[in-house]
Amino acid sequence: MERTCPECGDKIIGRADKKFCSDACRNTHNNSLNKDNKNLVRNINNRLRKNYRILETLNSEDKTKTTKEKLVRMGFSFDYFTSIYTTKSGSTYFYLYDQGYLLLDNDFYLLVKKDLK
Ligand SMILES: [Zn+2]
Repeated sequence: MERTCPECGDKIIGRADKKFCSDACRNTHNNSLNKDNKNLVRNINNRLRKNYRILETLNSEDKTKTTKEKLVRMGFSFDYFTSIYTTKSGSTYFYLYDQGYLLLDNDFYLLVKKDLK
C-alpha cells in the first residue's frame, strides 16, 4: 500500500513505521499541532481568568447575590469553570478557583467564596 505524507502529500519511502516523508515535514506537523494546543489552552485560560475576575469584582465581600443578566453583560461565560461541588441537598456550585456561584430562582445567582484554608 502506498503511504503519503500527511504534511505535504508526497509518497513516503522507507520504513513501514515512517509517518512523514522527511524530518522537515515531521517537525512542521508537530509544531502546528503544538501551536493549536497552545492556542486552545490559552483561549480557555483567558475565559477562565475573565470569569474569575468578574466573580471577584462582584463578590468583594465573601457572599453576595447577582443576576444572570449582570453576569452576561460583564462577559461571563457559563461554559467555563474549574470545579463543581454538589451539596448533600443537591445544590450545585460551580467554581472558578475559589470563587463560586449557585443558580437561584428567577435567574438570580448566589456568589460565594471558598475557604481555601
Ligand atoms: Zn512531506
